[in-house]
Amino acid sequence: MAESFTISNTANLQKYLKLDQKGCVMAEYVWIDGSNNVRSKSKTLKKKPSSVDELPEWNFDGSSTGQAPGDNSDVYLRPVAMYPDPFRLGDNILVMCETWMSDGKPNAYNFRHDAAKLMAAHEKHEFWFGLEQEYTMLDYDGWIYGWPKNGFPAPQGPYYCGVGTGKVFCRDIVESHYKACLYAGIEISGTNAEVMPGQWEYQVGPCTGISMGDQLWMSRFVLHRVAEEFGVKVTFAPKPIPGDWNGAGLHTNVSTAEMRAEGGMKAIEEAMEKLSKRQKEHMEVYGEGNVARMTGAHETASYDKFTWGIANRGASVRVNRQCAEEGKGYFEDRRPASNGDPYQITGIIVETLCGSVDG
Ligand code: ADP
Ligand code: MN
Ligand code: MN
Ligand code: MN
Ligand code: MN
Repeated sequence: MAESFTISNTANLQKYLKLDQKGCVMAEYVWIDGSNNVRSKSKTLKKKPSSVDELPEWNFDGSSTGQAPGDNSDVYLRPVAMYPDPFRLGDNILVMCETWMSDGKPNAYNFRHDAAKLMAAHEKHEFWFGLEQEYTMLDYDGWIYGWPKNGFPAPQGPYYCGVGTGKVFCRDIVESHYKACLYAGIEISGTNAEVMPGQWEYQVGPCTGISMGDQLWMSRFVLHRVAEEFGVKVTFAPKPIPGDWNGAGLHTNVSTAEMRAEGGMKAIEEAMEKLSKRQKEHMEVYGEGNVARMTGAHETASYDKFTWGIANRGASVRVNRQCAEEGKGYFEDRRPASNGDPYQITGIIVETLCGSVDG
């Protein structure tokens, strides 16, 4: 796919992937760096772990990832979730980690820690989340994959859920990512081509509590890792191309046990009231560069003002028609940008609806 040179030779790689590992397990430790990107490194384990608690803590050089100063650079990796590795197969695993400092405090970019406390404190509400991750594929030079080299494709219209040459690009990557997520046990619930050509979406969920953030971050790792083998770049930029081209979001679907029960619409309306009072605080953690995306056009709402409505794709929050008719269900917060951190997003939603926790 990539022009002019070979990025990697996955055909040759197959031969080595089949070699016996002599009982050892390869564990790929994944974490989030100081710029909202995933990083990873590999560790050999002598035997297969039966739970995440058996995985050893590890560390890395935080001064090389924008996470720590050079004179105190050790950052610790604490495993929090593990998944079957779709790249190495066998007993090998992907490991999601939190980042910690030597003084026993969470790293400045460890947003999972606070979110997990909120989720635990309000566990009885049984939060479910479903995230719609939109993203854009770029070629090796950074231009949108499949777009004419010095120009633009025909206007938006035929591309959303499109089928056929010239309407969709990189379906091979989308299919590979879908399967790889299923293999890893990530609860990917679907995928579709988006309004802007070269842009796609997949959904993860519904997931309970903190596992939403864990699974979404690992699905992003898997996507970057798959695309790497195809020589394609993935960007989560919320407005990759200015003008009459759709931006990319991370629509966040939310429900509690009360909302899903008979008469749950009342709980949803109460949630809307609470959300309307904290527009600014939410927008602060709903992704970088979101102002450029939230123009009020292209199925977005205003950046400054909270609105909600039934079946309204131009509102901050949409309640779907079925939910309104049944009087129970879930709501969709359409404000988060595609590059938003799911720990921060789900965390602040729980905080706004149920209250903060101390410490
Ligand atoms: P849209 O119509 O906005 O494109 P999608 O079908 O792409 O919606 O995504 C809907 C998401 O909502 C899915 O990720 C799904 O898992 C999630 N979802 C479904 N039911 C619930 C629920 N009760 N609570 C939270 N999320 C839910
Ligand atoms: Mn070294
Ligand atoms: Mn969707
Ligand atoms: Mn979409
Ligand atoms: Mn949506």
